[in-house]
Amino acid sequence: MCAKSTVYGPVESWRVGRSLGVDLLCDTSVCSFRCVYCQLGAINLHTGERRVYVKTGRVLADLKASRWREADVVTLSGSGEPTLAANMGEVIRSVKALTGKPTLVLTNATTLNDAPVRHDLLAADTVFCKLDAADERTFKIISRPVPGITLGGVVEGIKRFRAEYAGRLAVQVMLMPRHRGQAEAFARLLAEIRPDEVQLNAPLRPVPRVWSPKGRGNGESVPLPARHAPAMSRAEAARFETSLHELTGLKIVSVFRRAQPL
Ligand code: SF4
Repeated sequence: MCAKSTVYGPVESWRVGRSLGVDLLCDTSVCSFRCVYCQLGAINLHTGERRVYVKTGRVLADLKASRWREADVVTLSGSGEPTLAANMGEVIRSVKALTGKPTLVLTNATTLNDAPVRHDLLAADTVFCKLDAADERTFKIISRPVPGITLGGVVEGIKRFRAEYAGRLAVQVMLMPRHRGQAEAFARLLAEIRPDEVQLNAPLRPVPRVWSPKGRGNGESVPLPARHAPAMSRAEAARFETSLHELTGLKIVSVFRRAQPL
C-alpha cells in the first residue's frame, strides 16, 4: 500500500482550473514511455502491462479525506500512465458518483488500441491524449516507448477512440526545439484524428535526476538536483501554432500565449 495519499491537490492547471489529482500507480512511477521532459524524474517501471496497482477502496478513502470540494475537475494522472491501471474505469465511475465533479484522464494513448481501455475511458468527461512526435524517429527520441509501441499504433488508437467517444477529446503536444519545421507533419496527423482541441504545451517543469513523487503535482517542490528540458521560444511556438491552425482549422490553445510563466 502507498505510504502517501493517492489523492493530491487541488493544483492550478492552465487548461482546466483547479484540478484534484488521483494517482492509480502511486507507490512507484509506472509508464510505457520515458519522456525526456518527464517531471516525475525517472520511470522506475517501464511497462505496458495493465494491472491493478492501487486498490479502488484505498483511492476512495483518500478521496473522501481530500479537499475534493475545492476542485473544478478530478484528474487521473499521477505517477505515470493511468490507463495501465486495470481499475481505472471503476475509479472514474466511483469518483463521479462520490463527488459529482467532471473527470479528466491524461493519457499517453499507448493503450487505446485495447477495447477494454477505450471502454473504461468512455466514462470520463474529458480525455487529453499526448502526441509529441509526427514521425517514428522523433517519437523514439522524445517519448522513449517500451519496445513494440510505435507512433503509427498510437495514432491509430486515438483515431479509434475518437470514433467511439462523445466527450471532449484534446491532443496535447509538448513543443520542443526538435519540432522546428514539423508543423505540416503534425497537421497531417491531427487532421486524421480530428480532436476537439489541440494544446501546445512547454516543458516548464523541472526534471529531477531520480524519481520524485512530488513531480506528480505542479512541480514547484521537486528535490534537487534537477534539470530543464529545452523549450521552443515564444516566437517559434507562435509560428508553429499559426501554421497548425491554418492547415487544420482546429481550435488550438497554447501555454506560450500566457503572460506567465514561460
Ligand atoms: S510525461 Fe507522462 S507519458 Fe511521459 S514518461 Fe512521464 S508519466 Fe509517462
